[in-house]
Amino acid sequence: MITDSLTAAFPFLTAEHEMLCDTVRRFVRERVLPHADAWEETGFVPREALREMGELGLLGIRYPQEFGGSALDALSTVVLAEELGRSSYGGFAITVLVHTDMASPHLFHAGSPEQQQRLMPELIAGRKIAAVAMTEADAGSDLQGMRTTARRGADGWVLNGSKMFITNGVHGDVYFVAAKTGDAGRGREISMFIVEKGTPGFRVERPLKKQGWLSSDTAELVFENCVLPANALLGEEHKGFYALVKNLQNERLVLGAQCMGEAARAIELTLEWVTQRRAFGATLWDKQAIRQRLAWRAAQVAAARSLVYTTAWRYAMGQQVVSEVSMIKALAGTLVNEVMYDCLQFHGGMGFIRETAIERMARDARVQAIGGGATEVMLEEVAKRMV
Ligand SMILES: Cc1cc2nc3c(=O)[nH]c(=O)nc-3n(C[C@H](O)[C@H](O)[C@H](O)COP(=O)(O)OP(=O)(O)OC[C@H]3O[C@@H](n4cnc5c(N)ncnc54)[C@H](O)[C@@H]3O)c2cc1C
Repeated sequence: MITDSLTAAFPFLTAEHEMLCDTVRRFVRERVLPHADAWEETGFVPREALREMGELGLLGIRYPQEFGGSALDALSTVVLAEELGRSSYGGFAITVLVHTDMASPHLFHAGSPEQQQRLMPELIAGRKIAAVAMTEADAGSDLQGMRTTARRGADGWVLNGSKMFITNGVHGDVYFVAAKTGDAGRGREISMFIVEKGTPGFRVERPLKKQGWLSSDTAELVFENCVLPANALLGEEHKGFYALVKNLQNERLVLGAQCMGEAARAIELTLEWVTQRRAFGATLWDKQAIRQRLAWRAAQVAAARSLVYTTAWRYAMGQQVVSEVSMIKALAGTLVNEVMYDCLQFHGGMGFIRETAIERMARDARVQAIGGGATEVMLEEVAKRMV
């Protein structure tokens, strides 16, 4: 069942993974749920909450202890993401996961010792918040079409352009920004840069109002003759696109795990509802159509979740899982929306009312079929490896 303990469901998980799951669950219950509605109103997760997660060791679970990390394995990241998904506040979950698994890996994998020593401990402790800026208004799925440029200046680099839909964009401190560093054909000369808040020429143009993920801040960023020091280059010049693509594997795995947590929680909440709610002389659970639909959704989530955990295990073993990760992103992003549709439907009118969790969860789920790789783009990744 989707509610089984981790080690019962997946024998390759350990007591350490169970402990991590318990820690996240307790943190969510005690430190997130009492405040999360207020965060949805203000549009961001306060940095104190992230600092508390840092103190619990939750922001650097895979990073080495020398930076303050917990040095756990890749499966731990999946446990974290799934459990954050179960919080039922997608905005909170994505704020954390962009910081831990979509932005800071760029520094960890490509940063120089100086860059890592300066920033990794700050990120892992939650004293600084990270964002990753790839997407532009005219280049999302097709990242190689980006137009932001970085040209060599007198003492470093000059950045010009803009980025769109950047999570943690307003409240971030450190941004890992992709820009073209040459004019050679499509995307071959993209590089990554570290841009810190307050750098002259860099500004947050506007926070973006969204359908869901309300407690996650999303922004448009602008760089106008933004002068960066020479040591702002992250990794090798012109090799940024490969770094982006490489990190997208972990990102998609994590998003898949987040979807599994969200879907499982939605089914649990709906079971609570339909076993109480009465219509036509019996509970909704007594209607075969409803209980079979929920059983079907539970079966689908259990199957997709198995793919997530076994792929994470293979990824942790160093195996090539590009196709599976793309399948996961496509499957999970679609399934979580189907689950939310049914769960909201079985809540009836209350499912449409703001005070029910399912109403928020259904809004939050929509973007999972778009962000971090739209379903169709993921299916193309799968298809091109099929023949
Ligand atoms: C809330 C939110 C947070 C985000 N956070 C970040 C962030 O932190 N950093 C960042 O860099 N980006 C971020 N993004 C950007 C996100 O990854 C992109 O929106 C996504 O990759 C899709 O790009 P796009 O919006 O430009 O859509 P487009 O590329 O214009 O695509 C539009 C649609 O066309 C279809 N499509 C596209 N290509 C194909 C194809 N080859 N075949 C068939 N159909 C296709 C898909 O249905 C797709 O949804 C975020 C987006 C959102 C909405």
